Amino acid sequence: MADDGLSPTVCPYCALGCGFYIRKGEGGPGIEYMLDHPTNEGALCPKGNAALEVLGHPERLRFPLLKAGDGWRRISWEEALARLAGEIKETIRDYGPGALGFLGSAKCTNEENYLFQKMARLLGSKNVDCCARRCHSPTIPALNRAFGAACMTNPISDLANSGCIFAIGSNFAENHPLVARWALRAKDRGGFIIVADPRLTPTAWLADLHLQINLGTDVALLNGMMNVIIEEGLYNSKFVEERTVGFEELADKVRWYTPERAAEITGVSASSILRAARIYARSPASAILYSMGITQHSHGTDNVTACADLALICGHLGRSGAGLYPLRGQNNVQGACDMGVLADFYPGSVSVSDAEGIRRLEVAWGGASLPKGMGMTAEAMPVAAGDGDLRLLYVMGEDIVNSDSASSRGRRELANLDFLAVQDIFMTETAEIADLVLPAAAWAEKAGSYTSTERRVQWSPRAIDPPGEARSDLSTIIRLANLLGLNFDYSGPEEVLAEIGRVVKSYAGITRERAGARGGVIWPCPFLDHPGTPILHQDGFSAPEGRARIFAVDYQPPAEERSQDYPLLLTTGRVVIHYNAGSMTRRSLSLMRRAPELFVEVNPGDADQWGVVDGDLVEVETRRGEAWARARVTTRQERGVLFMPFHFPETNTLTSDVIDPVARIPEFKVAACRIGKM
Ligand code: SF4
Repeated sequence: MADDGLSPTVCPYCALGCGFYIRKGEGGPGIEYMLDHPTNEGALCPKGNAALEVLGHPERLRFPLLKAGDGWRRISWEEALARLAGEIKETIRDYGPGALGFLGSAKCTNEENYLFQKMARLLGSKNVDCCARRCHSPTIPALNRAFGAACMTNPISDLANSGCIFAIGSNFAENHPLVARWALRAKDRGGFIIVADPRLTPTAWLADLHLQINLGTDVALLNGMMNVIIEEGLYNSKFVEERTVGFEELADKVRWYTPERAAEITGVSASSILRAARIYARSPASAILYSMGITQHSHGTDNVTACADLALICGHLGRSGAGLYPLRGQNNVQGACDMGVLADFYPGSVSVSDAEGIRRLEVAWGGASLPKGMGMTAEAMPVAAGDGDLRLLYVMGEDIVNSDSASSRGRRELANLDFLAVQDIFMTETAEIADLVLPAAAWAEKAGSYTSTERRVQWSPRAIDPPGEARSDLSTIIRLANLLGLNFDYSGPEEVLAEIGRVVKSYAGITRERAGARGGVIWPCPFLDHPGTPILHQDGFSAPEGRARIFAVDYQPPAEERSQDYPLLLTTGRVVIHYNAGSMTRRSLSLMRRAPELFVEVNPGDADQWGVVDGDLVEVETRRGEAWARARVTTRQERGVLFMPFHFPETNTLTSDVIDPVARIPEFKVAACRIGKM
């Protein structure tokens, strides 16, 4: 805490990394706006403004708890950690390290995530993953292949310089509200906004052109736009020739996707496809924004690939106002991925099949022998628990029971574990089924760094004390690792960040001081005097030969279609008031007052057909389960499609568990369903 009583911090909700101050006063902590923050300029959305409500919440976990019959027994930290260490050792002895699973969190700091995966891998387990699997895992293989870097190319504020902003599968006005600030600034300067979304969202209201696309037909739309751009000679031939490979294959592929054929698949008129293509290609600098409407599909990797292809053929990369913006979900998704809390990557995007990269890590980590090859993903862990292949799961700050697709199945499978340990700030639905619950400090009660979706690394100091005996995840990991004989001799997060800088090249120049300055540092920052890199790919791509890879993909329909038994489709998403599984926002009084219950949006035509009236309590059913929700009859929703937010536990009992074969993300966005009344 500085002399003025203000402690700078980073919003714990979405991945924009908005900054504000925590003011410590007699009436408890309060918020002061950080007017000179480069991303949010002092503004906060409703969630940011309510962020402090979870800190002193009466339901916070305060003491370690051990399951005792149907209840809990309060135990000491010594007993809790000794028990967990004992269970881990027994599991390794009886089944080997492959029976251990570690689920990290995009809510925790870089330092916590780094040590969490290091502990798991030094114990010999490959089974390390986090919630990024469920939001942006397709971004990683698709953009690594395309550009050699799986991240946002330009900072959020640079959107103000865009002549055209094309948002596809992103309701940013609700999900990343401060993005709208910069998009509107672009519009004020004459920029054009195109939004492709099946729903008439608040983001679509901002648009100059709304493409109301059929669910799951994004590749057909993007290929249709590229067909127009290539046929009309609007592509950037110099950029394509000098900086890419694969254009000819793409041109062959998209020849079939005439605007008329694309219109038939997508439901968007051929004239709108033509218009969108021409505006995107002709603008001097166009940006593409995408989010989980693109990634959460059984063909999510193809969707991201097609977005990258569109940017590449038009040369809208490597300069101000252009770029590709994968808008990540939680406050530290980018950081958790950078730290290697993924079944397919070690820290610094070292593939688990990269023998040379792993050898360098073995040297850096004191000569240990590290596991190679793909581990179990977040989606595979419950399945393996059900099959008896996973015996112990250690979950740090993730509500897997609520955030998993087809979640009733996952809950049953997790019950088959020998031991489930959960470290969190609240008794989440996942903690309720655990054997051991460890109380964690929330973000403002501990120090550490977070990496926002624009690659901005910011240090958040400890501003207030955690409740009861709750402690930082970092100190819990260090103590546990030492009980397991790993010799984690770290004095605090500063020392861990210094080690990260030695292991992850793009963090090499990032110190606690630099991350703690206003706005932190945007990686890559390869050495101490380096200013950071707000705009990527200005001098080429880090893909092989310095050229980006254009990779042609075909449209594949969603895994589930309407049928006689399930005549509607269900899609899911977020609302501005809530966040992800809702473990924090459902406990925030001011937010719950504004969005207190699960609802389902129904088009008036469907409501008439199925006898639903606005305000009815209705049952939505899919092949995996059923859930009750309050009907909202609205023209925001297209005919034949229902929408439910996923912030309430019931929603994911309905969603599909068909996964993308590359990124292993479930198809949360499309499920065949039916609706009925009590
Ligand atoms: Fe927090 Fe995101 Fe809202 Fe900013 S836009 S205040 S980071 S939830």
